[in-house]
Amino acid sequence: MTQGRPWHRERLFFLISSARHFAALLEARGFKVLYFKAKSTPAGLEKAQAEYGKLPVSCAEPSSHTQFAQLKKLGVEFVDNDFFLTPRALFTSWAESQKSFVMENFYRAQRILLNLLVEGNKPVEGRWNFDAENRLPPPKNYTWPKRLLHARDEIDKEVAKDLGYEPTDSWATTRAGALKQLKNFLDNHLAGFGPYEDAVTLDEWSLHHSLLSPYLNNGLLTAEEVISAAIKRYDQGLAPIESVEAFVRQIIGWREYINGMYWFLGAEYKELNGLAAKRELLPLFVDSSKTKMNCVKQVVAQVETRAWTHHIPRLMILSNLALVTGTNPQQFLDWMREQFIDAADWVMVPNIIGMGVHADGGRLMTKPYAAGGAYISRMTQYCKGCDYEPKKRVGDDACPFTTLYWDFLDRHKAQFSKNHRMSQQVNGLTRLSDLPELRVRAKKVLQGLSDGTI
Ligand SMILES: Cc1cc2nc3c(=O)[nH]c(=O)nc-3n(C[C@H](O)[C@H](O)[C@H](O)COP(=O)(O)OP(=O)(O)OC[C@H]3O[C@@H](n4cnc5c(N)ncnc54)[C@H](O)[C@@H]3O)c2cc1C
Ligand code: SF4
Repeated sequence: MTQGRPWHRERLFFLISSARHFAALLEARGFKVLYFKAKSTPAGLEKAQAEYGKLPVSCAEPSSHTQFAQLKKLGVEFVDNDFFLTPRALFTSWAESQKSFVMENFYRAQRILLNLLVEGNKPVEGRWNFDAENRLPPPKNYTWPKRLLHARDEIDKEVAKDLGYEPTDSWATTRAGALKQLKNFLDNHLAGFGPYEDAVTLDEWSLHHSLLSPYLNNGLLTAEEVISAAIKRYDQGLAPIESVEAFVRQIIGWREYINGMYWFLGAEYKELNGLAAKRELLPLFVDSSKTKMNCVKQVVAQVETRAWTHHIPRLMILSNLALVTGTNPQQFLDWMREQFIDAADWVMVPNIIGMGVHADGGRLMTKPYAAGGAYISRMTQYCKGCDYEPKKRVGDDACPFTTLYWDFLDRHKAQFSKNHRMSQQVNGLTRLSDLPELRVRAKKVLQGLSDGTI
């Protein structure tokens, strides 16, 4: 996993150093540990078998179809993976009983099944969802609590040296560090999590987000312990329902749903390209200096620095751009997979192919998540420092997102007008008196993005 693809070195550092610390922890507890460097997991196993004979091998269910198939071929025995709360068979039985796979329905069933924030079959405080109180734009004159910085030890330094890379202090590589991050979130961020979960600010990159996904995805923390700790804060009256519910929804709802759907939809799902999007990956994804769009430049620069940005930039900026420019979904998926600290096949594939770029024809989300500059201007602070005007759709200073939003609807109007959730947006095209001009501008914008001049 260290070679063959341009992996972000922050990500490699995090994964390798966490594994090295884990091996050291097991040895300290008296286990015999073999730590192999091998080309692939099967190659490592074959090396171990050459040395120790064909002993039985047990493994937690892996995180991709490819690795599952490879290990199965080697006769590995799988056990349920405690990275998740929902066994795959249980999710399959839920999915098979549904006409469409609405996350909200899964989430409500989870709340009842896991007996979390419910009284019998009813939600505590009378509502399943507090979105009306949440989703606020960025606050003005707000002091964000200090972020936890993670110091580096000897193992970290060795791994960093091997990679020829100076890691940031954003990510812990030990269980103790991950637990500190959890405590920091509970003490300083959980109470404010809900209201600003969709906002993007210039003065703070993580806002009140937990920064726990890397540890949940590599096993330094379990979903079960994170959820219990958050609910305890609610029970103690230390965090309000709108924040605790929003956080619980992310973990027992979205995270479990995405993993369940990855396995339910099968290995071929990753290759879907329902909108026949053919554009090559834009140069700005690989180098943030290749664009003048302030929102995109800043978000890609964040990813370049620490391999992370929160879910709204991932969806509203990065995926939205790939969607409205008609970028090939598999190329975009590969890029996201290589760059993010918390990426794994199970989580990137549905989030990109389904949620991000609608390449699955609506199997996961009934409508594509396309947004123009006006929405980005409301939820972020990027537009003020930009060369483009968020509300303008034509002209040299028109916001590329706004132009391409309408052009995207125009290009796919035949397909989208059959979708009742999209028909209102598509009808909006008929009110555009400048549509011919907009089409010309869109061509220029697409060319400029491909050339790295927009
Ligand atoms: C296009 C796109 C790509 C994404 N890729 C990844 C990825 O590779 N790995 C990843 O863990 N998450 C991914 N997410 C989900 C989400 O963006 C991250 O989990 C979140 O930003 C991680 O930061 P956090 O721990 O501070 O999250 P918080 O905002 O604090 O949320 C708490 C937890 O909820 C879970 N969660 C929330 N939404 C999702 C979701 N859609 N899918 C899975 N888990 C979710 C995560 O475990 C996260 O740690 C993606 C979302 C989008 C829209
Ligand atoms: S004007 Fe458009 S391109 Fe510029 S920051 Fe706003 S949304 Fe992004």
